[in-house]
Amino acid sequence: MSKSTAKVNPVRNPESPLGGSLRALKLLEENGPLAKSHVARSLGITLPTALGHFRKLRDEKLVMATSKQSYSGPGRPLELWDINRTSNCTVGFAIAPPTLVLGLANFQDDLLLHETFDLSETASAEEILAIMERFLLGAVRHCQDKKITLRSVMGCLPGTLPWSHGHAVNMPQLDAVDIRGMIYKACGVNAELSGLSVAMSLGEAEDFEPDTMACLIRWELGIAVVPFYSRRVLFFDKLPPQNFMGLHDYAHMPIQKNGQNDRLCACGRRGCLEAYAGGRAIIKELQRDDIHLPADLVQLAQAGDQQVIEHLNHAAHLLGKAMSWYVLLMGIEQIRFTGPLSVVMSTYEDSFCQGLREFLPDEQVKGLKPQASADPVRRLLIGACRAARHSFVNG
Ligand SMILES: [Zn+2]
Repeated sequence: MSKSTAKVNPVRNPESPLGGSLRALKLLEENGPLAKSHVARSLGITLPTALGHFRKLRDEKLVMATSKQSYSGPGRPLELWDINRTSNCTVGFAIAPPTLVLGLANFQDDLLLHETFDLSETASAEEILAIMERFLLGAVRHCQDKKITLRSVMGCLPGTLPWSHGHAVNMPQLDAVDIRGMIYKACGVNAELSGLSVAMSLGEAEDFEPDTMACLIRWELGIAVVPFYSRRVLFFDKLPPQNFMGLHDYAHMPIQKNGQNDRLCACGRRGCLEAYAGGRAIIKELQRDDIHLPADLVQLAQAGDQQVIEHLNHAAHLLGKAMSWYVLLMGIEQIRFTGPLSVVMSTYEDSFCQGLREFLPDEQVKGLKPQASADPVRRLLIGACRAARHSFVNG
């Protein structure tokens, strides 16, 4: 959503019973299958210690041994270990107002169950909690039937800004309800809460090329810009303290400074890029009774509404121009759009690129290959489930 610093629950789960074996698990999750010698070397431990970790994790049905022919030719097959990707799963849910997505996915990103809800008519936080609980109970039943283990649950929530600000989205405050308590009661698994940009980033990450600096622009009511290197979100684990401007807050850099005449941004400052190019700003400028949400902009743009298309193009140009500085500073090589407004990217792609060309040479703009996410809702689901997996293997 608008600011990645908001809405991060600081409460940590109690120490994992897997203790030191978690490091081996994490290594396998990220790089498996691996030989035990590789794991021992990477973690700076002895072979028997590595084997001890594997046995402990195998008893927990978290890893398994697979035999593979050695590359060095005939002889004893090399034993490789991998995380058990099909017998373990996580639940992830994410709220990208007004949409709530809930998913159950195994450790190889197969979605086993998923649901999507439009929350615009949902009156209370308790109703949202009830939807989550119903899904969790279904997920628990599914896991029992298929004999797979639910390891963790992650909720990815937007910052507090869009919930209370403006008329575009009127959603209940979730602060008042005990989401983590409900989750523990429903499935006996610890839950973490994190930001929406965590789900969106992890969901889109796989599409970026390896060894490449990339950035994801989530365009909706607000704008979020998330930098990646080699499919990993930069500075992901270390969210900056409140009110600290980080790389993810690029949309809150000022593009105007004329005092009280500058537009007020949802973050409370004036003159931010988001206050001029975000979906909320476009909706406000249009002042039309038939436009309240980014989804309305999308529908009208698809129907060829010239006024809407014009405003989208103007905002995309501003965004492109502002992003050219970011591209230069960060050495960005690839740009991807996600979020509701990414659906109609073909209508504003040229304006965005024109904006980039204000400061970047044609060749560089061509190389960035800006394009829209193939399936933002599915990516969000997968991203939330991955976030739950990361939180599990990180203890
Ligand atoms: Zn702002």
